[in-house]
Order: sequence, then C-alpha cells, then structure tokens
Amino acid sequence: MNGHTNTNGTHLPSTQKAAQFDPKTKSVQINNVPIPSIKPHEILVKVHAASLCHSDLMLFEPNEQGLTLGEDGPFTMGHEACGTVVSTGSEVKGFKPGEKIGWLPIVDCCFDCEECGIHNLYCERGTSKVQGMTVDGYFQQYCAIAWRNAVHIPDDMDLDCCAPLFCAGCTAFNAVTDTIFELKGEPSTTWIAVIGCGGLGTASSSIVEAIHTNEPSSGHLGIQYLKAYGYKIVGVDLNPQALKEAVNSGADHVFNPKTDTDYITQIRSITGKGCHAAINFTNSVQAYASTPDLLRMNGVLMVTGIPQKPLQFQAMDLSMTRFRLRGSNNGTTPRLEKCIEFSHKHGIKPHVTQFSLEEFPKMVELMEKGTQTGRLGVLFK
Ligand SMILES: [Zn+2]
Ligand SMILES: [Zn+2]
Repeated sequence: MNGHTNTNGTHLPSTQKAAQFDPKTKSVQINNVPIPSIKPHEILVKVHAASLCHSDLMLFEPNEQGLTLGEDGPFTMGHEACGTVVSTGSEVKGFKPGEKIGWLPIVDCCFDCEECGIHNLYCERGTSKVQGMTVDGYFQQYCAIAWRNAVHIPDDMDLDCCAPLFCAGCTAFNAVTDTIFELKGEPSTTWIAVIGCGGLGTASSSIVEAIHTNEPSSGHLGIQYLKAYGYKIVGVDLNPQALKEAVNSGADHVFNPKTDTDYITQIRSITGKGCHAAINFTNSVQAYASTPDLLRMNGVLMVTGIPQKPLQFQAMDLSMTRFRLRGSNNGTTPRLEKCIEFSHKHGIKPHVTQFSLEEFPKMVELMEKGTQTGRLGVLFK
C-alpha cells in the first residue's frame, strides 16, 4: 500500500521531497524522504511556509562556534516555519488537527529546568538538538515537532509570510522588549539605534562576514517592533537597500557609515547626548566596537548578532557604567506567544520573497551573494 493513514484518519503519501544538507560534501540536495512518524510528545505538521535564516549558512562554512552539525548523513535544513497540525501524539496538550501553528526548533531538552527557562539549547540534560542544524528541519512538507515548542497562530494572520516570525521575529521582539526593560523614559523621547537593518551581509557583502550574522534581517522587524512601542529610531547599515527597508519599517533617521562618515557626530546631535540604547544585529566586530560611541551615559548595548570573533570593550566603561551590556536570544515558548500576540495586534509583517522547494539551491546561492533584503522562503502548495 502507498502511504499511510495517521491517527486522525488523514491519508498521507509515504514519501516527500526535502531540501537536505550533506555534511560530507557540504552541499544541498533535494531528496525523497519518508514522512516522519510521530512520538507521543510530537505533532505532525503540514508545513505551509519555511524561510532561510542566516545561521543556516553556517552549515557551509568552517564552524568556529563548535556546533554539532548533522549527526549521521544528510538531514533536512530549515529552523523557521509555520503550518497546520495534521496529527498529535498521545502526550500533546492544547493542539488539534487543522490548527495554524508556528514553533521553536530546539528538541530533546526537558523544557522545565532553570536553563530551559532561559534558552533550551542549554538544558541541564545536555542533550539538546537543533532541528534544521543537527536533525531534520522544515524544508519539507511534513515534519515532526515537539509540542512544547508550538504556539497557535491567530486565524486571520497570513501564513504565507509568518514563517520568519519564528526565528528572526522572536529574536527581534525579545531584543526589543529586553532593551525596553532597561529603559526608564517616555518612548516618544527615547532614542534607540538599530545597527544592521535588514539587508543581507549588513557589515559587508562578503560571504565570510555575512554567514556568521545571527539575524541581520531581524533588523527590519526590530524597527517595526520599536515603532509599534512608540520609540524614536536611528538605523545604521552599510547596505543602501537595507537603509531603504529601515525607512519603510519606520526608522526616523538612517545613516550609512561608509558615506556618512560623520554619522556618530550627527547621531549624537539629533539625539541630544547619544542614544539611550543600541541593538546590534550584525555579525561584525567592527560594528560592535563603534556602537558604544552612539550611546549616551548609562546607555544599553544589546548584543543580538553573533560575530565569530570575541567582542572587546573597556572594563572602565562598564565599571563606571558609561554604558551597559545586555544580551537577548530567540527565547522560549511563552515569550514566542507574546511575540505572536504583539505581531498580530500591530500588524508586524516580515518581508519574504517566496520560492518553490526545487529552487532551494538557488535560494542558498542568493543568500550567499548577500544582495537580497528581507527573508527568502519556500511556500509549499
Ligand atoms: Zn534562525
Ligand atoms: Zn531543560
């Protein structure tokens, strides 16, 4: 018999196409793979859309952060997607077939320890894996996810462009809310700089720099979230396209350090004594090194983008609180719920260019070139 009937009586094909990464050849392949069967704690999802994240490109490069990538042979890429519930395992609570959901990608963690309460990559069990980085991810029509990672998507949200909310979006939302938590003034008179506004390869068009950026295209979402909260925003980026996107997303002023060589003086004069906070979405050590100059006394530097090399700051500046350092991450399911609720209420929309699954290798090429802005995604039909 072809295919199988799942617990909810839906008939599914037995195989599907998947965009996979082969760790041996470090290349992308479109392979035929089985439709996964689910464990008691899992949901089988029909993926509606999946998008490519900059951290996916880490797979193709020397890996200085020491991540375990692909344990045994080719695995399906993708850690940012949305879709509908097909069937649920016996332990799943609160999700029914047909519901629209999105989810986070860390699996094989406990979800309940102190570490999981901050980020489940660091679960005390030490067994955490990342779907799309170590085990099968979402560039395939059907995937199995841990129910504790899932959140509902309101019915009137458009699934076509929701996928980036589940990595780029929640990263930006958490960076914004963690920054706001540190600030006291009225949003309408509080300045926040966004470093890395949304183009690919914000710091450089070179792949070497672009690939290790955590979420440069989180920048355009970060600006949308800050705008929704009513803050004054300065966007900084080396890519003119990204600056255009920053203005479209709501930035009050934008600067390109390449052409606006006195941008630091200009920003300090527009904002009075400098920005109250700066959120850095870039992968660039140089971009981080110049960020404190944009801040006023006791300003907050939010570390979001991840350069390969260590960051350096003067201990005196931190000790005397000339500025403060904070970090933020893509978070936990309760925080993801807040992000989706807020995005729904304020009409936050990721900017995605859609492709078919067969075009996946071309998407990777485009991302490596770094000429696109926004997200590149697969829309399953
Ligand atoms: Zn990501
Ligand atoms: Zn845990």
